[in-house]
Amino acid sequence: MQAKDYYKILNVSESADGNSIKRAYRELAKKNHPDANPGNKAAETRFKEASEAYSVLSNVTKRREYDQMRRFGGFNPGGFRGNPGAGFGGFDFSNFRNAGTRRQAGGSFNGESVFGNLGGLGSLFSQIFDMGGQAKKRPRNRGENINLDLRIRFKKSIVGGHVSFSIEKEIICTTCQGGGAKPGSTIKSCHKCQGTGQVFVNQGGFGVSQPCSHCYGKGQIIDNPCDKCSGSGRIKGPRKYSVKIASGIEDGHQIKLKGEGQMGPEGKPPGDLIVTIKVTPHHFFRRMDLDVLCRVPLTLKQAVEGTKIRVKTVDGRKVDLKIPSGTQHGTRFKLNGLGVVKGANKGAQLVSVQVDLPIDPSNEEKELLKQYREAGSSAAA
Ligand SMILES: [Zn+2]
Ligand SMILES: [Zn+2]
Repeated sequence: MQAKDYYKILNVSESADGNSIKRAYRELAKKNHPDANPGNKAAETRFKEASEAYSVLSNVTKRREYDQMRRFGGFNPGGFRGNPGAGFGGFDFSNFRNAGTRRQAGGSFNGESVFGNLGGLGSLFSQIFDMGGQAKKRPRNRGENINLDLRIRFKKSIVGGHVSFSIEKEIICTTCQGGGAKPGSTIKSCHKCQGTGQVFVNQGGFGVSQPCSHCYGKGQIIDNPCDKCSGSGRIKGPRKYSVKIASGIEDGHQIKLKGEGQMGPEGKPPGDLIVTIKVTPHHFFRRMDLDVLCRVPLTLKQAVEGTKIRVKTVDGRKVDLKIPSGTQHGTRFKLNGLGVVKGANKGAQLVSVQVDLPIDPSNEEKELLKQYREAGSSAAA
């Protein structure tokens, strides 16, 4: 657990007035703003800490609670020390003892009994201090992202185009349009919280606002909930998407569809839909930068005498390719314009010929081999 000294974070004195606090915060926020410090984690942390400190110290009620806690809890800037078994990661209660309580010095303390005696201060601590893992339980301020692997064919990854797909996710109820009320029924303002969704409760002498338990923080009461969504305003439903696939898209490329993730909590924006492209490998074609490579077998006779072969192209056609006499194993022929298109650049389909040399040649093959090797050495010369 980390104790946070909000005064220290904002670099102001404990007696600083509202204006000084605001000034200090603005300066820090400006200096450490993520937009001004892209990729700088330390600045981001300082920015967040300053915002958190300001949110407490700029609010008269919260600041008073915070100040009281500093006095009660034996505030020890830079981290609490002490009994880790108490479940609070180690407080140093020496100041607490010295603060003139009825507890005997040297008596055994643990977090629980201290908080018990202070009448619910524990929950106040957890609100103000970052309680490690519990920090994750803070209400989310946007919907969750949806991550999706989208498999596309090799040809699509080269040629490009569009791919459509459908996912099941939470959507606004089509019957009540998200209001949660049965069509024709009324929505009333919650009487317990006067429609604000928040109630003020007394906790150990401190006023703390909480979501209203009567309306679950919505501020509204629905007499006749919508049948389709049971009043939640949300249903599961299919959503169709079509994404553009650029020519030459790489395996693992991500496409972000902003705001198409899960819906946000009450009044908060949705998350994003993040599509990761998975290119299915092809048995015949292989990607090489802007080009597409394929291998075609030739007999020794074809290589020596020359021939004409039919080659499958990546866009699904078949083209004739002339193989000149004396062609060597591994020679690459280029079919222009059949590769990846990137701006003004256009790749090619490369056809690599694989000459099948006999292991145990007949007399006729021996003669062919001789010619093949001669062609090879004269080509190299
Ligand atoms: Zn509904
Ligand atoms: Zn309410």
